[in-house]
Amino acid sequence: THFGYKTVEADKKAEMVADVFHSVASKYDLMNDLMSFGVHRYWKRFTIECAAARPGMKVLDLAGGTGDLTRKFSQLVGEKGEVVLADINDSMLKVGRAKLQDQGVVGNVNYVQANAEALPFPDNHFDIITIAFGLRNVTDKARALASMQRVLKPGGKLLVLEFSKPLNPMMKKAYDFYSFQVIPRMGSMVAGDAESYQYLSESIRMHPDQETLKQMMLDAGFDQADYVNMTNGVVALHRGYKF
Ligand code: SAM
Repeated sequence: THFGYKTVEADKKAEMVADVFHSVASKYDLMNDLMSFGVHRYWKRFTIECAAARPGMKVLDLAGGTGDLTRKFSQLVGEKGEVVLADINDSMLKVGRAKLQDQGVVGNVNYVQANAEALPFPDNHFDIITIAFGLRNVTDKARALASMQRVLKPGGKLLVLEFSKPLNPMMKKAYDFYSFQVIPRMGSMVAGDAESYQYLSESIRMHPDQETLKQMMLDAGFDQADYVNMTNGVVALHRGYKF
């Protein structure tokens, strides 16, 4: 928008997100395992299965961070395929690239510093785009979804893995307690940074629920937008196609 105050708000959010991920980059993988009791591995495995990447495909792992999805895609698309790990944050990219190279993931992976809102790729380029636990950090989500739609090939698929709204009220209570009482404390103990983890919990609460995100994907031009809940809706995997 053109209104000054909104632009300032948007800048502030982008700056804060940058600070958070610079700060958590080195402890990111450890914290993911601790905070989710390892369950994020299952959520990601399911995402990989739904993506159904095949040899030769071009995959964009957007907001790819430390590269959990990229590693799997790199194996699946083979030497004729290509995986682009794109992230706005150079600290996360550095940690991700070092980790993947250590693990021998080389050859078909490229690293690109990019903002999801303005992707620096040609139209109709990727067979698959994933964005895992990334969309909630993006300031202008509609713009980001439109940008993903543009760079996706006709026939291609977008998968958005993100925290969502728990279905069961008891689960919601337990989850709120966990995110606002336990996670910032864990962040302070393990990563020496309560504030960043407080932000992460808040960003989860602010994120659009399942039906809203589904509609946003339709509005951005995706076809057959749909989602499946995991862990009682704590996380949802959204899927949309470009026809
Ligand atoms: N996808 C990885 C995973 O699932 O483990 C990393 C998720 S991490 C919670 C969120 C990532 O989104 C961070 O690496 C952050 O730098 C990135 N990010 C935040 N805003 C972004 C933007 N506007 N464009 C691209 N990446 C962004």
